[in-house]
Amino acid sequence: MAEYKDLKARLDQGDTIIHDAAVSTELHSMGVPMDFVAWSGPSNYTHPSSIIQMHERQINSGADIITTNTWSTLRPTLERAGYGDFVREINARAVHLAQEARQRASVDRSIYVAGSLSSNITGRDPRTGEMGFQAFSSTPGVSAEELRDHYGEVTSIMAEAGVDFFIVEAMGRDNEARIIQAEAAKETGLPVWVGFNAHVGSNNSVMLGGQQNPTHVAEGKKYPGARNLRDDMTLSEAIREVIPVGPDVISIFHSRIENANRAVEVAIKEWSGPLMAYPDAGATDSLIKWRDLTKSNEESIEEYIDAAQNWVNQGVQIVGTCCGFGTEYIKPLREAIPAKV
Ligand SMILES: [Zn+2]
Repeated sequence: MAEYKDLKARLDQGDTIIHDAAVSTELHSMGVPMDFVAWSGPSNYTHPSSIIQMHERQINSGADIITTNTWSTLRPTLERAGYGDFVREINARAVHLAQEARQRASVDRSIYVAGSLSSNITGRDPRTGEMGFQAFSSTPGVSAEELRDHYGEVTSIMAEAGVDFFIVEAMGRDNEARIIQAEAAKETGLPVWVGFNAHVGSNNSVMLGGQQNPTHVAEGKKYPGARNLRDDMTLSEAIREVIPVGPDVISIFHSRIENANRAVEVAIKEWSGPLMAYPDAGATDSLIKWRDLTKSNEESIEEYIDAAQNWVNQGVQIVGTCCGFGTEYIKPLREAIPAKV
């Protein structure tokens, strides 16, 4: 049985660790139906055997860490998708399915289960364009207190289900929400990895949040009643705000490779602990097109591997991929990167 203390020991001794490929887009590419509101979230309940298969694919492709399919399983999102009565079931199952895949996979290395926490409190229904809880990652219609409750609910379910640690996959510019997530995860007593996405702003500074801003995703937009979102926050400022919460690892994720390159440099300056990077393929259309197999990614596997090698050379210990980059991208990693930084 893999335990976090073993992973911690490996990180302390400088081992490189492979994180999985993007979970939801991998499921999408396997043909698992994506919910219009809650994306891949309900599939823990509706397509459990596909979830196990997806994790097995990740493990067989070399992932040391597999991530639970819980990026879209917060109560307001599931409620709006019609799964409000299944919040416990969907979140607990996500952990159990990952554990089952770990058990089934016959590999002679340790596999760790990371519990994904996201900022995806979506209410947008792309069929109607209607905004319920409003923007995707900016959570403007949700108060800090409500956020604490929602994250507290899922972190306690996942901790009880036996997740090894949490990974805060908070996209966007709402650093307050990111901190709330990290604090909720911390309260379980488990280790917490905290992620940031970033882009290079017009003044060439590395800014918090995504560059892609389709209006229907509305990231960074302000809505009536919104909490104070900082459109002008640099990645440096955001990382500095999060460090007092006590993250175990800081990650740069869900950013195009060229943005991630710059963001990694910033993270190295601001944080002396273990670093992680997992870029995305930058599909700029709506969520449901994140893994359109009729289109090829702009970045080839070789380009990704080059970038990953560079990050490892700079000291990034954990590498993997985010939306749009499938398991074929992580498969060559073990051969391509050194065993230690
Ligand atoms: Zn992503």
